Amino acid sequence: MKIGFIGLGIMGKPMSKNLLKAGHTVVVCDVNRGAVEEVVAAGAQSVATPRDIAAQVELVITMLPNSPEVRQVVLGANGIWEGAQAGLIVADMSSIAPLASREVAAKLAEKGVEMLDAPVSGGQPKAIDGTLSVMVGGKQAVFDRCLPVFKAMAASVVRVGDIGAGNVAKLANQVVVALNIAAVSEALVLAAKAGVEPELVFQAIRGGLAGSTVMEAKAPLMLDRKFNPGFRINLHIKDLTNALETGHQFGAPLPLTAAVMEIMQALKIDDMGDCDHGALVRYFEKQAKIELQRAPAR
Ligand code: NAD
Repeated sequence: MKIGFIGLGIMGKPMSKNLLKAGHTVVVCDVNRGAVEEVVAAGAQSVATPRDIAAQVELVITMLPNSPEVRQVVLGANGIWEGAQAGLIVADMSSIAPLASREVAAKLAEKGVEMLDAPVSGGQPKAIDGTLSVMVGGKQAVFDRCLPVFKAMAASVVRVGDIGAGNVAKLANQVVVALNIAAVSEALVLAAKAGVEPELVFQAIRGGLAGSTVMEAKAPLMLDRKFNPGFRINLHIKDLTNALETGHQFGAPLPLTAAVMEIMQALKIDDMGDCDHGALVRYFEKQAKIELQRAPAR
């Protein structure tokens, strides 16, 4: 298939390269020239604007930071909407507000253009090896047409409902991850403060009900003091902002999400916005005046 790809960042670059590897023709565009050159070197074609892409492909994928960038690239000057013909499909794989997905889709529908919201989880390593999880909102028939394309980038692709449902699922994912990291942080700092080796507590509880994928991924990094991203606190703040707004719009209070959001805001003020979200532990460490470390060798 001839596919457009807009947004060649940490995620979009490897995702577009996996489409090339799967044999698709890929036409790219990004405001970052260096990123464009790298994907062109891997076999893509490039054009100047999203409008140029929309005029020549069957499917345009966007992988942009947040709702304002998606609105700009789809509906703004020289955007996808200007170049689109009826029958084009737009699959937005960015993590954005569900209501923004619905608004953009409604505008595209005026021209007979279909849209899916298809955010991902898995981060850069899974983007590179093509094993992302994709959660998709949109019509079943449009999903069926795009499924082989998603499968070139993902190990799991699930349609969760109509347009906007993909981003609702992604927000649910981000709430669970944020609260889980906070719980692991709070618990390990409690152990350390009470004079018990946090590493041994991790070993003792990881196989029981308290164990989780988050605990497996983040506890070792906390103990090793590795806070390079990964997934930046600033990006998680963006997702929790969208979660809280969505909760308010639909009447679902999110008190625990609000608490973790404030912890992330405190870390941002302490210049840790670009650290991995595992650095949440540093908030609890600061309050308890202690730092986690590995158990000494025996
Ligand atoms: P990124 O900031 O690395 O990349 C975004 C890209 O969009 C950049 O290359 C930027 O130049 C480009 N861009 C911005 N505005 C543009 C415009 N107007 N026209 C063309 N290009 C434009 O972000 P990322 O980490 O690749 O994340 C992309 C999305 O995926 C975000 O919504 C993020 O929340 C989500 N996500 C990220 C991760 C992760 O681990 N990084 C994991 C899952 C989901």
